[in-house]
Amino acid sequence: MQQKDYYKILGIDKNASYDEIKKAYRRLAAKYHPDKNKSPDAEKKFKEIQKAYEVLSDPEKRKAYDAYGEAGVEGFYNGAGNFNDFGTVFNMGDFGDLFGDLFQSFFGQNFTQPHNHSGSQIQKGEDIKLELNLDFQTANNGGQYEIEYKRYTLCNQCKGTGSATGKLKKCPACGGTGQINRIGRSFLGQIVFSSTCPQCNGTGQIPEKVCNACKGTGRIPQKVKLKIKIPKGAYDGLILKFAGGGNIGAHNGPAGDLYIRLNVTPPAGFTRRLEHLYTTIQIPIPLAVLGGEYTLDTPYGPLTIKIPKGIEHGQIIRIKGYGAYKLNSNKKGDLFIKVNLQVPKRLSKAEKELWEKLKEMY
Ligand SMILES: [Zn+2]
Ligand SMILES: [Zn+2]
Repeated sequence: MQQKDYYKILGIDKNASYDEIKKAYRRLAAKYHPDKNKSPDAEKKFKEIQKAYEVLSDPEKRKAYDAYGEAGVEGFYNGAGNFNDFGTVFNMGDFGDLFGDLFQSFFGQNFTQPHNHSGSQIQKGEDIKLELNLDFQTANNGGQYEIEYKRYTLCNQCKGTGSATGKLKKCPACGGTGQINRIGRSFLGQIVFSSTCPQCNGTGQIPEKVCNACKGTGRIPQKVKLKIKIPKGAYDGLILKFAGGGNIGAHNGPAGDLYIRLNVTPPAGFTRRLEHLYTTIQIPIPLAVLGGEYTLDTPYGPLTIKIPKGIEHGQIIRIKGYGAYKLNSNKKGDLFIKVNLQVPKRLSKAEKELWEKLKEMY
């Protein structure tokens, strides 16, 4: 594998500071910009310069590049998910579909559907955001997982109407419009201010007799159990979205969504980037010189690899198909093993004599 040396491309040394990197990039980008430079390989060179800068100017990517070369940077995904950034939300389909049957048999209706009375405003329920801690194996293999959480569900007593009798009546405060109009005066004359009726929350209707269980809101907080499916290859920061899994709205409003952020701890000694895994091993010098076999622990059990003779310090061995699963697929990425040479610090008398002999032979 011919590795591109990003430092060489920018003409800087390995310890270059951020400012030096930036300066080198600006100078070279100006020199090779295809608009100015008409030589045939200017564009290719320009792209190389850009790529080198993109990696070396980002401290995380630079670290990965220094450790594993181009392969180290390959697996970067743009921004793991957090709740302010919905870049990596994985849509798990409709919660109502997954558990609709159960709720339908309970309430005789699909609770994710808005139950709209007479065109008045029905408010959607709030979204719920949860975090779930998983170890690497569970997340990587995917499968069923049961969670328990609290959500507002339809009040069983009044079937979401908020009324003990199940019947509603026209809101006396707004006359059923859901809006309260207030007439104000200004220097231009009369102005009508419109606002949501506080008594019926804009629905235009109030319970005939307020349901005691839900105080007329039509919903009650309840602990619910939910079997969720973790997609194969799920990784740290991934957000699973279950449409309709949030709180149902007051007065039988449609449910918000459920978001579950996964916190996945990588296997000890490994780093995961996209579907690739990265690790470092230390091998004894004789093994590096003569070549042979080395067994390391991986998330899939012990793995014996061949060390080619004459391997150099820091060289990377790539094992195809030993990485993590690609999200929601049966394909696995690769395992990158950085091989470091372990220089013996303490020698027995016999070892010392042998090393002395070797030294004389050089
Ligand atoms: Zn009202
Ligand atoms: Zn109720």
